[in-house]
Amino acid sequence: PAPTMAAVHGGRRRHVLLFPLPSQGHINPMFRLAGLLHARGFTITIFHTQFNAPDPARHPDYRFVPVPDGSPVPVAMKDAVAQIIELGVACEAGFRDRLASVLEEYSRDAVACLVADTHLLPIFEVAARLSVPTLALRTGSAACCACFLAYPMLFDKGYLPVQESQRDMPVLELPPYRVRDLPVIGEDASGRVSELISRAMTAVKTSSGLILDTFDVLERRELEGLRRDLAVPVFDIGPLHKLSPAVYSSLLLPDRSCLEWLDAFPPESVLYVSFGSVACMSLRDLVETAWGIAGSGVPFLWVVRPGMVSGSAYHHQQQLPEGFEAATHGRGMVVTWAPQEEVLGHRAVGGFWTHGGWNSTAESICEGLPMLCRPYFGDQMGNARYVEHVWRVGLEVGGDLERGSVEAAIRRFMTGEDGAEMRTRAGELKKAAAECTGEGGSSCLAIDKLITHMMSL
Ligand code: UDP
Repeated sequence: PAPTMAAVHGGRRRHVLLFPLPSQGHINPMFRLAGLLHARGFTITIFHTQFNAPDPARHPDYRFVPVPDGSPVPVAMKDAVAQIIELGVACEAGFRDRLASVLEEYSRDAVACLVADTHLLPIFEVAARLSVPTLALRTGSAACCACFLAYPMLFDKGYLPVQESQRDMPVLELPPYRVRDLPVIGEDASGRVSELISRAMTAVKTSSGLILDTFDVLERRELEGLRRDLAVPVFDIGPLHKLSPAVYSSLLLPDRSCLEWLDAFPPESVLYVSFGSVACMSLRDLVETAWGIAGSGVPFLWVVRPGMVSGSAYHHQQQLPEGFEAATHGRGMVVTWAPQEEVLGHRAVGGFWTHGGWNSTAESICEGLPMLCRPYFGDQMGNARYVEHVWRVGLEVGGDLERGSVEAAIRRFMTGEDGAEMRTRAGELKKAAAECTGEGGSSCLAIDKLITHMMSL
């Protein structure tokens, strides 16, 4: 690697401050970015909430600054939007004090900038008041960001709020989205989702630049659109998990025994099933999914998080239907949390049934793995649309879940011709992704630009 830019600049502006939103899908990309910047010579200071606080012992090279947040307790998904907005507000005063002390300690000139999650608008506002330049990290796709920017237009033109009769209507201004693919969370009767999105876009527009965990071959057109519509520079430096040294930022303890278990299976034979860290399913859907998986005869590794079934905090064994374990004995493993990147890279894994979170989608693409997508909320529907329709590396499992159709979808996907074609295309995307992250690739060039930009702020 080239000598670090920070070193080239005589060691001035060597500190980068970061503030992630405390949920797994937002923590991972922020820590991956921290790893990347640290490898380029910056010292890293991470401000964090008490809620889902990181373990400093896992990152001895970083400084951690806890910010009091009024300790919100995890709430059901319908309240998550309010929780995110309130979390930022609750941190504001504490962050101001801690940022002021850090600036005094490091000397203002030594601080290059603060990178914060776009969902933490009050953090951007505090930094601006203390004259610290900010960069906004969005942990979703460029396409999702374009939808966020277009949110007022989507209401003006009547695409939103979603009407049942219009769900399949194309959104002409944002192809290939249909109304059903737009980023929504529930009904938004209180307008809080719109508020969340509008605040995120304010954070982007008032920052000194937007960092996206995506890459050129995946979203060239969408990135061009954002560059046209935004006055701030856009840095497409993804996929971060491939550009950063291995980072451990898991909130739950991964069950690593599944890697050894996978060793016994032939290449590309196992279906990995995970719905990420937040999505919840009804007990009925869990039961249909379980029997569909069992009936398919396909070997599987399934992540069933504690509390993944709506209204239940039970351990997975109590959530799965009676008789499931016996019916799948020898060809199935259920864990509460997996070392996902390693699982996706394991040669025995041949497909990923995912909720379509952006990290999971990017991680799957980078391993050349096709996806069955079952989106739940937020950007997941849009990601599934791109997987099926644009990159053509997967299928959406829509409608009500019935064991018979789940079984058929899994078979078609894992052993049928469609699945084989998707696997070939996914393999091509994997290569293209590797070119973006290789020397002289678009993401590496974007990282150089980002670092030069950081030093110039
Ligand atoms: N993940 C993991 N183990 C699991 C399930 C998920 O390490 O058993 C990680 C996964 O690799 C990804 C993140 O958790 O980096 C989930 O982020 P994503 O954007 O896919 O979904 P979210 O949890 O935000 O809905």
